[in-house]
Amino acid sequence: MTFAFVSGDPALDLTGTVGSRRDNPLDALTTPGDLERWVAACDELPDHVTADAATFESALALREATYRLALDRVLDRPFDPGSLDIVNATAAGTPPTLTLGDAGLRMTGDLPAVLSHLARSGMTVLADPRARLKECGRPSCTRIYLDRSRGARRTWCGMDECGNRVKAAAYRARRRAAP
Ligand SMILES: [Zn+2]
Repeated sequence: MTFAFVSGDPALDLTGTVGSRRDNPLDALTTPGDLERWVAACDELPDHVTADAATFESALALREATYRLALDRVLDRPFDPGSLDIVNATAAGTPPTLTLGDAGLRMTGDLPAVLSHLARSGMTVLADPRARLKECGRPSCTRIYLDRSRGARRTWCGMDECGNRVKAAAYRARRRAAP
């Protein structure tokens, strides 16, 4: 399964590893190896980390807590206290090391450090009153993304992932309806 990094923030991208959450949840992270591949695929994170059973469980707990808090923001309701505890506790861990060079920033650290970074990144978005968090317009997608577009007119998590699929389906429906 390929991973999509279209949510505008790595913590939101982590929550997006479960698709179709309401109808028929599809989880792209079912083993520690999946998580290692996800971290390696994310541009913003270290190229290599090792996940064991315990850190994998921590990552899934952070993912679900972050999703719940993002959904709370989308639905404009108070944050779930249990999810806040998980995200805050994860963020309190030692973050990764950042090194500046001509190639840009390089991040090094183990998986607990990566989880701390993800928790902090998600917190920054969740705390920002101007951050426009939206759920993708394709109902069966359920991905939450950060809309940074001018005027916040973005409808889909990503064109390849959802926008083009919805437009193609609408086109087929119009053709069927045409006399
Ligand atoms: Zn989508």
